[in-house]
Amino acid sequence: MNYDIQIIGAGPAGSSLASRLRSLGLTVLLIDKKKTIGKQACSGLFSKRITKYFDISPDMIENTIKGARFHTQNTIFEIKKEKTEALAIDRPKFDQFVLKKATDSGAHTLLNSHLVSYTHTKDSIKTHIMTPKGPQEITSKLIIGADGAASTLRKTLNLKGNLNYVNGILSYYPAKNTSELVELYYSPDTAPGFFAWIIPRGTRTEYGLATDTRHNHLEYFKKFLTKFNLKLTKFHAHPICYGNQQTVSSRALLIGDAAAQVKPFSGGGIIYSMICADIAAKAINSAFDKNNFTKQFLKKHYEDKWKQKLMPKIELGLGIRNTLNALNNRELDTFFETLKEHKSQIESSGDMDFL
Ligand SMILES: Cc1cc2nc3c(=O)[nH]c(=O)nc-3n(C[C@H](O)[C@H](O)[C@H](O)COP(=O)(O)OP(=O)(O)OC[C@H]3O[C@@H](n4cnc5c(N)ncnc54)[C@H](O)[C@@H]3O)c2cc1C
Repeated sequence: MNYDIQIIGAGPAGSSLASRLRSLGLTVLLIDKKKTIGKQACSGLFSKRITKYFDISPDMIENTIKGARFHTQNTIFEIKKEKTEALAIDRPKFDQFVLKKATDSGAHTLLNSHLVSYTHTKDSIKTHIMTPKGPQEITSKLIIGADGAASTLRKTLNLKGNLNYVNGILSYYPAKNTSELVELYYSPDTAPGFFAWIIPRGTRTEYGLATDTRHNHLEYFKKFLTKFNLKLTKFHAHPICYGNQQTVSSRALLIGDAAAQVKPFSGGGIIYSMICADIAAKAINSAFDKNNFTKQFLKKHYEDKWKQKLMPKIELGLGIRNTLNALNNRELDTFFETLKEHKSQIESSGDMDFL
């Protein structure tokens, strides 16, 4: 089968890029190893900026959020905006919605299918994809790795990066919770290397945490739940990676978590992947116009552009993340006590996407 572009991964990054490329008249194949899209461990907490990219229907919104309460061992610091800052979105519904937009736009899909091998020829990319009907060979001008934090394509292309990994885990409990604040817990005893959270989701409540990979996230999660007299039942877990990643190669580019387009402070990646999908679509359009798929061209038109826009924010987030990770309980108390002095400034001008 021949396509202009094959995209490995039909998550939000891959599917939203597919729609944009279809609107430019390019032929697109979306390949995903999952049989059903949307079973992703994710809190689905997106800033209101998401409504710039999609018509979010009310049935996708579980709750609206105005701020956060930060808990350390001896301090509670609350920030609350006047208006809604974020939406607690039903992530499975969101992923299916973004995929449907891609297929409605004419993108073809191969689900329950995964990348087996990859060959770069002089003027194309050939992949072997294992599908439920057997192996298939796909030829395209360009391949996109939208295959998440543990990207296979990133490894296959041997792209360099300086990445940090944490393991996230979450569970839902049927307790009604319509609070407008998320609760965030910072302590090396609760979630070493990241943080724990409670998200009010209207008819249910989400508990979750992430830890660095030196610690067992499942054990910390069980301990966290006991504080609320809860036992671990069904859970969802997934890695998060953040840092600085090379994202282009000849006839190939990475997007979304595969490209570490992730906020190091919170682990959120959806808004950054939407910003980068816009930049990628423009770059790919130019590559087809000029018939230039070299690494240099893709770097200039995609990687340099997205890094120019987001890397200063990612670096700021990395600095804050590394600082928080190095603090003990007493120092965390002091850090958040100090933030209290800047409460009104954070409430008036803070932006959860650019921290
Ligand atoms: C616990 C947790 C909570 C989170 N909460 C939030 C949040 O509240 N807000 C937020 O913005 N972000 C959050 N994130 C991050 C967010 O989930 C990611 O940034 C987002 O999923 C990235 O989208 P993506 O399309 O790049 O990757 P993914 O959503 O991971 O999609 C990648 C797709 O590629 C497929 N794939 C992988 N390998 C292959 C292969 N070899 N062949 C074929 N298909 C393949 C997978 O099946 C998957 O469908 C959270 C993450 C975790 C772990």
